Amino acid sequence: MQRKKIVAGNWKMNKTLPEGEQLIREILENESPGDVEVVIAPPAMLLEMAKRLTADKARFRVGAQNCHHEERGAYTGELAAEALASVGVDYVIVGHSERRQYFHETDALIAQKITRVLAHGMAPIYCCGEMLAERQAGTHFQVATQQLKEALFHLDAEDFKKISVAYEPVWAIGTGLTASPEQAQEMHHTLRKTIEGRYGAEIAASTSILYGGSCNPANARSLFSLPDVDGGLIGGASLKAKDFAAICNSF
Ligand code: PEP
Repeated sequence: MQRKKIVAGNWKMNKTLPEGEQLIREILENESPGDVEVVIAPPAMLLEMAKRLTADKARFRVGAQNCHHEERGAYTGELAAEALASVGVDYVIVGHSERRQYFHETDALIAQKITRVLAHGMAPIYCCGEMLAERQAGTHFQVATQQLKEALFHLDAEDFKKISVAYEPVWAIGTGLTASPEQAQEMHHTLRKTIEGRYGAEIAASTSILYGGSCNPANARSLFSLPDVDGGLIGGASLKAKDFAAICNSF
């Protein structure tokens, strides 16, 4: 089963409009042919610019880093899915560990965001992954599969087909520590089996599961060559055009 390969760059709260424009131009200059889909997820203010600069680039998509779970209304400072869709956003990252940690997002809330994103025709990139203490306690499989079930398994099969999953061990995000290929493969396989249990073999085989956590040009190839790893969600290295392009070319 041929799955979509995806590399998504999560810029987090970095880059101004001119800086972001320059970075996207550099990423485009470093682009080389391939069948990977490249998602650029800048801060919300930069989404429209990102869409404009990549509009005629077949491999490129634009992603938001978050959205609110309600449709619209009196939620000062929040970002509606319908507004994201209206500027051409393709993907929305939902459930990132920084949102869980600093903004107290629960799987129940994340499940509502997933539904909202899908209702506006965008594709969620759903993040899950264990904390260091959970890995040390040996509960990492249980934690990640539980997150998957609670945030996604309310979806029917047609909606689930639009989901990409990102396994991001929290202890590897921004720390320079990376899951070993063995750790990544066994978790991705476990997540895929869990999806199979709910949605069947065909949908499980066609779900892209990305790895995230200190992925860089030196380790991307060993991760992306694993049977159940279909690309990456990249934080720090997505802010350097050459590194990001090298990661995108690591299949
Ligand atoms: C992330 O924040 O999703 C991430 C993977 O960050 P980094 O690559 O910097 O570890």
